[in-house]
Amino acid sequence: MIRARDIKKAYGRTTVLRGVSLDVKPGTIHGFVGPNGAGKSTFLKCLVGVVHPDSGDLEIDGVDARRNALEVRRRVGYAPAETSLYHRMRAVELLDFAIRYHPDSDLERGKSLLDDLGIPHDRKVGALSHGMKRKVILAQAIACNAPVMVMDEPMEALDPEARRIVEELFRDECRKGRTLFLSSHDLFSTQRLCSQVTFLHRGKVLRDGPVEELLSGVPGRLHVQLRTPMDANSLPVGGGLSWTGEGVNWQVGFDMSLEDVTKQLSQLPLASIKDDSSNLEDLFERLYEHQSEPES
Ligand code: ADP
Repeated sequence: MIRARDIKKAYGRTTVLRGVSLDVKPGTIHGFVGPNGAGKSTFLKCLVGVVHPDSGDLEIDGVDARRNALEVRRRVGYAPAETSLYHRMRAVELLDFAIRYHPDSDLERGKSLLDDLGIPHDRKVGALSHGMKRKVILAQAIACNAPVMVMDEPMEALDPEARRIVEELFRDECRKGRTLFLSSHDLFSTQRLCSQVTFLHRGKVLRDGPVEELLSGVPGRLHVQLRTPMDANSLPVGGGLSWTGEGVNWQVGFDMSLEDVTKQLSQLPLASIKDDSSNLEDLFERLYEHQSEPES
């Protein structure tokens, strides 16, 4: 649905994108992750024609985005990170204005999204809180009904309940066949939502792939509580188990199947075991810990 090849972009002497290539499959939720300054927003802006890449190929829903930016804008619902909106408009007016350009937009759906997200239709945009403005931006990107949604930090400034609602909305839209490409710093939300993730570093793709595949390379971790205190040298270490902790509270890292680990642990006086296992946060730390700071 989105096909990018060797996208490069510099601002003056600052090179931001150094040849980004990725594919977003139709009907999927694809996460775009990386530290501040990695170039995520710039790449998303290239997708929607707000920024023009210096070179590379970009195809969205079968349209050459570099040649036909207007056609691409009709096929993409964009939720930018910025909230500098038209402050004098009412929320519902802004929604109407933002989606009007899209051929299949649905204002009634937009209004019901504002209701779901607790936004008073007639409140002036300037009088909305930051989180409420973010919700209006998300509502328009959904209600435009474009086949592709590109969202820059959609979970930013949302409270946990709003995140839950928005995550469910995203899943529903993708079940209907829409495609969502989103950047996020919320790696737990990314892991819950996304089937694919691309990690960006200094304007280049560092890792890319299905979440399950990416996580399969990250060792698992269990939190183990014992009924009686033990010291490190009496804990089992077969198969490369690694222990941290003391007394009755331990964390065990492993690189084997969960079944094999539980066999090893069964000899211990266990009070409880909690899955503390591999997640995108761990992978993020592992991927970026040996990378140097972004260049300017
Ligand atoms: P991210 O979204 O990953 O935090 P950005 O794409 O916002 O990263 O920014 C990447 C780099 O590009 C940063 O160093 C930023 O200062 C620079 N940059 C972004 N937009 C501009 C611009 N309009 N002019 C000059 N530099 C910019």
